[in-house]
Amino acid sequence: MSLNPPTTHREFSGLPGAIGITLGLPTLITFFALITNQTYSIQGINLDINAVLNQLPNSTEGWIALCFDKQCWLAYLAWFGILVALDFILPGTAAQGVELRDGSKLNYKINGPAVSSVFVAVLLARAWQVKGYFLPELQFVYDHQLELTLVTTIFSMLLAVFVYVCSFIPLTKPNGKGTHERILSVNGNTRNPIYDWFIGRELNPRIGTWDIKLFCELRPGMLLWLLINLSCVHQQYHQLGKVTDSLILVNLLQAFYIFDGVLNENGLLTMIDVTTDGFGFMLSFGDLAWVPWAYSLQSRYLSCPGNEIELGWTNLSLIVLVKVVGFYIFRSANKQKSDFRSGKLDHLKSIQTKTGSKLLIDGWWGLSQHINYFGDWLIGWSWCLPTGFQTPLTYFYVIYFGTLLLHRQIRDETKCRGKYGKDWEKYEKLVPYKIIPYIY
Ligand code: NDP
Repeated sequence: MSLNPPTTHREFSGLPGAIGITLGLPTLITFFALITNQTYSIQGINLDINAVLNQLPNSTEGWIALCFDKQCWLAYLAWFGILVALDFILPGTAAQGVELRDGSKLNYKINGPAVSSVFVAVLLARAWQVKGYFLPELQFVYDHQLELTLVTTIFSMLLAVFVYVCSFIPLTKPNGKGTHERILSVNGNTRNPIYDWFIGRELNPRIGTWDIKLFCELRPGMLLWLLINLSCVHQQYHQLGKVTDSLILVNLLQAFYIFDGVLNENGLLTMIDVTTDGFGFMLSFGDLAWVPWAYSLQSRYLSCPGNEIELGWTNLSLIVLVKVVGFYIFRSANKQKSDFRSGKLDHLKSIQTKTGSKLLIDGWWGLSQHINYFGDWLIGWSWCLPTGFQTPLTYFYVIYFGTLLLHRQIRDETKCRGKYGKDWEKYEKLVPYKIIPYIY
């Protein structure tokens, strides 16, 4: 059998879907930058479309100046470059990825804790060093949200072109004699250049031992999201002389999520993004542009004049409770499945399948087929609730993430039906709910 069989099934409705997402999502994050800034901020459900569009240039030169703002490009390249350098320099532990189609396993350096420590240390040192807690770097990020949104988008497109082109260059064999094919994603070998560029042709593009996908998943985008959130706190502090409890809460809850991801880098090695999805525009844009600019929407909204919200202790406690419950479900359900699969929880009820694997039907996994998704979704609610109920815009995240999890559940169901056949039908009878117990 060929190492890289041609892809026959196309996700996202094939080429039209790929083009739609490539144009639509960058437009959406650009729109977010236009409606949550100091000049124009969405209030309630009223949107003054003329005022929004007036912020955009009306000439080609104006657009070029906006998209290729020199300072923003230099700042972003420095940001990306420093994180790459830290990834190389800082020590970490060695980990192995899952077995690939050719029987090999990739080696990874896991240095999330070291990178996070340096990042926090530099931020604290800068805050201590500057007068009146005024950090020009954070102000720069806040004042250039639109330009930086475009820079990260264009950069992610170029990175996707780079890895697409590289995917055709054979790799030198480890013994230095001759070359061998790269392992392509099962989804990204349709031979349609636009679709493959979008979905990701190569499974694990690397430069030497440096893994581009793992780096992008947890470094430049996730940490930029943290910086954007901090820049909102910084802006409000210097504008109002104080920071509202809602903005502090969103920052703390999201910082917790960001560091939890960066510090638990190992967990990513067995997730679909790393094991199955190719690295193309979808992941590159998702990691580098979508995560920082779409996920920081709540903070950006709360930092705009007129949107300051003081929640008070009761509301704060209720929102924290949503987060704690969500996180508890998310973490303990994932841990239970992983412990079970490594043979630690044999007393729990399960189904023995013909493939040799067992499907858990007890504990968290007796409640629904993806109870972990439900926990993750509740965490998303805790980020949106601090913005109050002035506008549906700040609930964008839970709607988007709910849709993503639903799509993921359907994708996973198709995979498991194919893999487990009759055993999956038996499993579905025993665990009928897909995500939310007794509802769906
Ligand atoms: P799951 O953790 O639900 O894993 C699904 C896989 O687990 C299946 O393909 C199957 O694989 C195995 N499995 C399914 N049911 C059982 C069972 N009853 N017992 C044992 N094994 C089972 O999905 P994901 O990998 O998609 O998600 C992992 C986490 O990542 C979730 O908590 C999710 O919320 C989160 N996530 C976060 C995202 C974000 O952007 N923040 C995006 C997507 C996910 P096998 O072939 O091995 O049997």
